[in-house]
Amino acid sequence: MAKKATYGSVKRFGSRYGKKTRDRFGAIEVEQRKKHKCPYCNYERVRREAIGIWKCEKCETKFTSKAYTVAKPTAIKLEVNEE
Ligand SMILES: [Zn+2]
Repeated sequence: MAKKATYGSVKRFGSRYGKKTRDRFGAIEVEQRKKHKCPYCNYERVRREAIGIWKCEKCETKFTSKAYTVAKPTAIKLEVNEE
């Protein structure tokens, strides 16, 4: 039988709190720790500084977003009339 993969970061909890809770927490933690795409320079260099505060290591922009993930940017379209 194939063994289901668990998230490495939740190994610190051992067998505590139950598998389901640990797996759900692990999924969030992976999302939170991975490098996200910068909405300003488009490089995947954004890391979380604190809850909801994200910083791009490339262009050094600090911005707020969701607590555990960088939300998809709601693009504010600047309508430039080039006439
Ligand atoms: Zn950037």
